[in-house]
Amino acid sequence: MTDLKIILLGTSGAVPTSNRNLISNAIIRDNELFIFDTGEAIQQSMMKNKVGMNRPTHIFISHMHGDHILGLLGLVQTMSLLLRDKPLFIYGPSGVSRFLKSNMNIFNIKLNFKLIVKEISPGLVVKTKDYKIYAKKSNHSILNYSYIFVESSRPGKFYVSKVKKLGIPEGSLWSKLQSGRSIHYKGRSIHPSDVMGKSRPGRKIGISGDTRPTKSLIKFFSSCDVLIHESTFSSDEKNLAIERFHSTSTEAATVAKESSSNLLLLTHFSSRYKDTKLLEKQACKIHRNSIAGRDSMSFIVPYSDEKRLTKSYVLAQTSR
Ligand SMILES: [Zn+2]
Repeated sequence: MTDLKIILLGTSGAVPTSNRNLISNAIIRDNELFIFDTGEAIQQSMMKNKVGMNRPTHIFISHMHGDHILGLLGLVQTMSLLLRDKPLFIYGPSGVSRFLKSNMNIFNIKLNFKLIVKEISPGLVVKTKDYKIYAKKSNHSILNYSYIFVESSRPGKFYVSKVKKLGIPEGSLWSKLQSGRSIHYKGRSIHPSDVMGKSRPGRKIGISGDTRPTKSLIKFFSSCDVLIHESTFSSDEKNLAIERFHSTSTEAATVAKESSSNLLLLTHFSSRYKDTKLLEKQACKIHRNSIAGRDSMSFIVPYSDEKRLTKSYVLAQTSR
């Protein structure tokens, strides 16, 4: 079992409030860190949540609006001052590279680690044997990328009783079968499918960035274990949401429902909402398993075939 943790580093859109930092979401999977958007003062939130500054890290920027990217420069400088030595990968739309280069030039920021900035196109952005990250253009006032983090499927269950019945001794032959390779034993070929169940799904996390809800996004977010979706406005401000290319709580919930996603985490709230409970309530009417994200909310995402991720499970983990 590989732990996959979600941490909300900031849940405010446009301007911060006294208890909400600007938007940023983190995933930590097996010591690797993935950050989606970098609102101002992200370093402080990372420190508060013990995220660390020297993990293998990939940063994804949704779009070139200040509330999503202004924290990036400070973060890069802080990482350097705290003696980061691992390379840092940054992905985002056109403009990310110029933003960093010109500002680092103005402030004469020298880094003691390698910075790799990639201006991306829609589609596959990062691929390893364990996971893939995809970007999709969505519908905001400027180019915005929504992202999905998709884990590779896991091997099926290993049935010890079946292996024992075949008389295969424990040890390297078991490991071979478990890793998906066939073996030869006493003149017989034994395949993984003879002793293992069907492969099991990995986890899928969707992150919207700033967007209107769209049909193609619903498809992109299909069957997310967790969908982190912007909910800038409450449902009674739909006209404003349309005008500013954002989503309401009800619209975010509709995307969650129609994409058959499990848990919906609302975020990127307008500063006009001191309390986001109302937005959560509106979302729950459409998609029951919805929760208004708050800064420093953090929880481990279980595999869907092992445990259902519910709102109460998230709250219980966050209050620990
Ligand atoms: Zn925004």
